[in-house]
Parts: sequence; structure tokens; C-alpha cells
Amino acid sequence: MRKFFVLFTLIISTCLVAGDNTDKTFIHALYTKTQLNHASYKLLRELTAQYPRRLAGSPGADGAVQWARRTMQQLGFDRVYLQEIKVPHWERGEAEACYVVFPDNHREKLSVLALGRSVPTPGGELLAPLYVAHDVDDIKKADPEAVKGRIVFFNAAFPDTFLQTMHGYGRAVQKRVWGPSEAARKGAVAVIIRSVTTAHDDAPHTGTLVYAGDAPKVPAAALGYLSADRLYEYWKRNKNIKVSLRINSRIFPDKTSYNVIGELTGRKHPEQIIAIGGHLDAWDVGEGAQDDGAGIVHSIGALALLKQAGYQPQNTIRAVCFMNEENGLRGGKAYARIAKEKKEKHIVAIESDAGGFTPRGFGYSGPEAGLKQLNEWLPLFPPFTIQAIRPSGGGADIGPLHKAMSTPVMSLIPDNQRYFDFHHSHKDVFSAVNRRELELGTASVAALLYLIDQYGLNNGVKHSASHP
Ligand SMILES: [Zn+2]
Repeated sequence: MRKFFVLFTLIISTCLVAGDNTDKTFIHALYTKTQLNHASYKLLRELTAQYPRRLAGSPGADGAVQWARRTMQQLGFDRVYLQEIKVPHWERGEAEACYVVFPDNHREKLSVLALGRSVPTPGGELLAPLYVAHDVDDIKKADPEAVKGRIVFFNAAFPDTFLQTMHGYGRAVQKRVWGPSEAARKGAVAVIIRSVTTAHDDAPHTGTLVYAGDAPKVPAAALGYLSADRLYEYWKRNKNIKVSLRINSRIFPDKTSYNVIGELTGRKHPEQIIAIGGHLDAWDVGEGAQDDGAGIVHSIGALALLKQAGYQPQNTIRAVCFMNEENGLRGGKAYARIAKEKKEKHIVAIESDAGGFTPRGFGYSGPEAGLKQLNEWLPLFPPFTIQAIRPSGGGADIGPLHKAMSTPVMSLIPDNQRYFDFHHSHKDVFSAVNRRELELGTASVAALLYLIDQYGLNNGVKHSASHP
């Protein structure tokens, strides 16, 4: 009897802490279902075909908002609604142009994209000699007399030694975000950067810059990797070359836009929320398929998958399509503000914004007990999918919520070796997303939502398990 009791206790505690075979079976069925239905892949095809250009303030972004609302309504979510926000409205205008101009006036075209938020070049074409800097730190040390009146060229490449490209990106992106204002402080008239990319081709990669309040706003653009190579070679041979830059961007007053939210209402604790999201906006080149169409269909797809599996959540599971992550983060900020005003209780907020590649793990920022719990669930995921929990996670859109309410936050971590080959360029298109890999992401997110809904996150015994 006693032996039996010990065994029974062991089974129960295993259930509560690490899940059991029912969990494992249910989770494996989620993975199988995604590979049969391809529902997320179909949604991504629809979104990218109908609204390939979704920069905040654009007609494409407006269309995508309506698409997300309609899609979640058609999938039969319990509640679908919009959160109104004001977003910045920047337009690229006519395609930009960049040439290297040799002393004999011969010109050679370089592959270029203006950075998001960049002001236009004054009077059309801007022609100036070059000042070559490696990275932002170098321009901070530069002699203003040597920089004045020149176009600063930040030549630093993506640091290849980081095995996690997300970490390399953190360093590589500094010149794009802060470079223009640091160069302007030294008297530069414009900035060009080597694109922030892991690809060695000639596709330029855009992305936002941030103008400091106390520096002149100078136009800024990114060169394709091979164009940057050529320009650097020409400059090494002849310091008298010039660069011609033309940017035709326009900045308009802020516009009204929306976060789009869909929910499966919790049966036991409707007031407790498990949120999963991505960002609906995307840069105005390519189709925003990896960044972040994948995150949008992971989020909507995971809720749809649980619903189709007949799963009735105990807590409210919420999909959030954030607006304006790329050039303002107004959606993420508004979401946090409203959550705080309404005193919403989030168990966790999860973001998928790293592409539609094979999922490898999750990142987590929150109380230590949650991390321990997540690690105990690892054996429940199919082999070669979710393998690790990184003790740091979150995402741009859920950062404000984490800050405002100390909400634990998580991120889906797909294999990210190729993500920055596509990111923010015309190569980020639907055809670059693999169907199987994308669907594995949806299944991984659904499995995580299920486990957190069943067992809670912080103490492991928050709810009694109630299996589907
Ligand atoms: Zn993104």
C-alpha cells in the first residue's frame, strides 16, 4: 500500500512538474496536424500576396489590419478587436540612387536603400567626398575638421564570430541606428553604411535610424555588401573619389492605425492572459515574410491549432498583431499602457520575431522558477525541435509590457543562421519561407501555450491539469 502511495505521489508530481504522456501525445499531435494542414503557410501566402508592403501608415498596413481582424473572426476566435494607436508616416518616395564619382567625373552605380526615417537629400542630389569610418566608436573619436562637409561611410561588417546571429546583429546595428547622428555631430552631410546583413551579395538592407534631438538630421542609406566592398576598394586607391546620393523620402503627420487582437477565452480564469504576438508592419521592400509575417501566422496559427484540436483553455490565450514595430514601436507601447490601465494580469507574453525557420528553443526573462519549469518541459517537445531555454528572452513589442508590469516575457528562437540574409531587404519574400519549418514554429508555440495554460509558469502548481 505504502509502496503504491509513493508511486502514486511520484506520478502526480511528475504530472505537475514535467507533464506526462498525455501531454507528450497531445503535443506530438499538434506537430503532426500542422504538417497535414499547412494552415499557417496558407495564411502567410495570403498576407504576403495581398499586403506585401506594410510599413506603418501605408495603405498596405491598413489592409493588413483588416486582414488580421477578418482572419481571426473567420477562424472563430471568441473575441477579436482593435486597439487604436497613432503611428509615424514615412515614405521612401521615388527610388534612391547612389554613385561613386571618380575624379574624371566617370560614375559607377552602387546598390542602395535609404534607411527608414531618413530625411531626403537637400536639393535632390548630394555630392561630397568620403570620410571612411569603421563603426560608431571610431566616428566619436574623429577630428571634426576631417569629417566636415563629407559623407561618412560606416564600413564595419556583420561580426561573423557570433554563432547566434541575433547577438551579432546587436552589435552590427549600432552604426545604422546611431551612426547618422554621431556623424552629423562631427559635421558630416550624409551617412552611408555597409548593410547590416550576413549575406555576401549586393542586396541593400534598410531598417530604422534614430535621430538624436541635439544633432542635425542628415540623410542616410545602406549599401549592398558587394557595393560597399567596391566603394572601399576605390577609396583605398584614390582618396579623391566622391559619392553622389539622392534620397526622395517624405515625412507626413502621424496616422491612425491599430494593434489587432484575437482571443480564446479562458474557462476557469478568463482574467488571466497568456499572450503570443508578432508584428504586422514590415518594411516597404520585399514582402515582410520572415520579418514578421512568420510571427503573425505563428501567433494566429497557434490559437487556431489549439481550437481545432478541441482544446478549451483555462486561461485566456491571446494573439496580438502589433503595429509599427519597425519604425516607432507605438503598438507595443500602447499595448503596455492599456494593459496597465486595465490592470490586466499576464501570466506571460511571448513574441515570435526571428523568422519562420526550424524552431530550436525559447528565450525567457522572468522569475527563476519559470526558467526551471520551462527546462523541465523540454523532453515533451519532439526531438530536433525545441532543445533549449535561453535565460534571456522577449521581443521589441513586448518589451514595454515587461518594463511597465514586470510581466515575464519569452521569445521563440528559430534557427537564425540565415535570417539576416533576408531581413529588411527585397529578398524577404514568401518563397524564401519553407513550409515545413514555418509549421514547426506554429506547433512549438501552440505546445508552449498549452503547457503554460495547463501548469502555469512561475510555480509549476498553479492549476490542476485538465487534459483535452
Ligand atoms: Zn521584426
